[in-house]
Amino acid sequence: MSALTMPAAVIIARGKVEVQEVFEPHPGFGEVRIRVHATGVCGTDLHLLEGHFGAKFPLIAGHEISGVVDELGAGVLELKEGDQVAIDPNLSCGQCHYCQRNLFQHCVHHEALGVTLPGGFSRYVIAPARNVYQAQGLTLDQAAFAEPLGCVAWGMRRLKPESGSTALVFGAGAIGLLLMQGLLASGCSSVTVIDPVESRLELARALGAAQTFAPHPELFQELCDLHPYGFDITAEATGIPEVVESLAKYTAVAGKILVFGVAEESIRVQISPYELFRRDLTMLGSFALNSSVPLALEWLRTGRVRVEDLITHRLGLGGVEQALNLKANPGMAGAQKVLIQPWETV
Ligand SMILES: [Zn+2]
Ligand SMILES: [Zn+2]
Repeated sequence: MSALTMPAAVIIARGKVEVQEVFEPHPGFGEVRIRVHATGVCGTDLHLLEGHFGAKFPLIAGHEISGVVDELGAGVLELKEGDQVAIDPNLSCGQCHYCQRNLFQHCVHHEALGVTLPGGFSRYVIAPARNVYQAQGLTLDQAAFAEPLGCVAWGMRRLKPESGSTALVFGAGAIGLLLMQGLLASGCSSVTVIDPVESRLELARALGAAQTFAPHPELFQELCDLHPYGFDITAEATGIPEVVESLAKYTAVAGKILVFGVAEESIRVQISPYELFRRDLTMLGSFALNSSVPLALEWLRTGRVRVEDLITHRLGLGGVEQALNLKANPGMAGAQKVLIQPWETV
């Protein structure tokens, strides 16, 4: 049997991506091979390129993957060749302290496609069948959002918005706009969105934002005039410390604050414990997605979350480097979600 090769965009060293020919992978027991349709580019990929998150090179990144099942390993029970699928890239051991408590995203032996294992910036990817979800009724472009939207779904499972809640979201990048739609799909009556880029605010309104504002010196006063008692839920998808720090003052008594963006690990912010106490505030974090792909796919299927308009760029494997540059400077280029389509030549 001759070993076939395929092109893949490989991070060969810190800051260096190269399209290389690598051996085509084949599935082992309980695994399937997926012919990749599209892989979304995300901030995590940029962190990996910069050598954060314990990245080990060479690495084929890309963890927001959709495609078609192409080859079955032994012991696969539910999938067949030709199935259109979405992937949860997070692999957990099922045996550790956290897995035994259904906190799979905190698995002590956690691995992830595109982070520690070969990912979707490649024509084929191998995934355990248990991580592969049927995507009938969806386009494969939509299915490529299963992972980031799954993170929003987990955030909502943590937050448990009461129906009719008002919400305020800082950040209208791809994740912010998924978060906004997730809040609406989870019972919020209105979401107000803040972002400095007008084109993003326009998209936010088209996708259901009640009101949008660019940050400006009188923003707090302006929002106070409109919502004198604050918002039931405040959230940020920016990772910006000043934004995290500001959330409490916009939050209503007995309200909830969701820290959703990824801040630099070394960042510290000032929070008033007295304010949390005095105003009955709840502050929540939300990490990864813990079995939330089914909810994400349901939102997509029912049209409660729309993602087509978030796709601003489609590039082949040769475009991974450019995609990461866009990611580093998103406001500048008007980039929202960049999809890598490994079967397209750039
Ligand atoms: Zn991601
Ligand atoms: Zn585990």
